Amino acid sequence: MDILHPSLPTPLQELSHKILDEAGVKLYIKRDDLIHPVVSGNKWRKLKYNLSAAKSSGQDVVVTFGGPYSNHLYATAAATNAIGMRSIGIVRGEEKETPTIDFCRNHGMDIRFVSRDEYRQRNSISYLFNLIKILGNAFIIPEGGTSGHGLKGVAEMVHETSKQLSQHVDYYAVAAGTGGTAAGILSAKADVLAFSALKGGDFLKADIDELLEQYKDRGNLTLLTDYHFGGYAKWNDDLLDFLIWFKTEFDIQTEQVYTAKMLYGLFDLIQKKHFKPGTTIVAVHTGGLQGLIKT
Ligand SMILES: *Cc1c(COP(=O)(O)O)cnc(C)c1O
Repeated sequence: MDILHPSLPTPLQELSHKILDEAGVKLYIKRDDLIHPVVSGNKWRKLKYNLSAAKSSGQDVVVTFGGPYSNHLYATAAATNAIGMRSIGIVRGEEKETPTIDFCRNHGMDIRFVSRDEYRQRNSISYLFNLIKILGNAFIIPEGGTSGHGLKGVAEMVHETSKQLSQHVDYYAVAAGTGGTAAGILSAKADVLAFSALKGGDFLKADIDELLEQYKDRGNLTLLTDYHFGGYAKWNDDLLDFLIWFKTEFDIQTEQVYTAKMLYGLFDLIQKKHFKPGTTIVAVHTGGLQGLIKT
């Protein structure tokens, strides 16, 4: 099912810069930010099979989870609205009106704020069972769209890239929140550099392993946890300067929560000669540009 007429395949663009030449690194950027103006990037990839499974389950309501600035809630509200399904968003923490929550409500999402304690149970079977009893029958999409269905959609991005680029890709570089996108790439047997957008991102390794339980043959994961800039949705002037530099050099817009952190980390590693000359890297632009702050 193609929600909302995506533009696929998304472009694969080679970046050229002195920094890359000096390190002997070939860097491409997979422009998944251009999939759709509203349901962008990895959220479109992860929702694709979740929503087709929801449709074929005969359910007309989707329940999902996120924080008050969640790009996943934003994408789910828009996508369910467009395909004529109802949606309920379980939101972490005390009531907070944000542009994201506002957008979700305007796209028909029924927003329910829950305490952080309750939110922590979001993946527990007994909690979900109870939730269904209260809300009525519904198709559950885990936080971030990160599920087996989500991984399958992300793997398609890798297959798409292989068709566009005849040479071997040594690494896919991606920003990580739940780790679902990284897991999806690994499930397609490609190696991944995952840059945690959260502080203390070491937990991502176990989460990614769990998502990949049934995949015997998978790529290698390198997890980078030092480019979080203070934590999830935190940033500093260094990061904003980089974001502006990147836009000026390559004419590509990124945002401060995920993609700029990943690219900052990647350029830092490239400049420190972390990669052997001849290395080919595809950085995935996972979108999320609605969350860009004014710089
Ligand atoms: C949600 C999001 C991520 C994180 O993806 P995960 O699969 O949860 O790791 C990365 N980039 C952008 C732009 C996002 O919106």
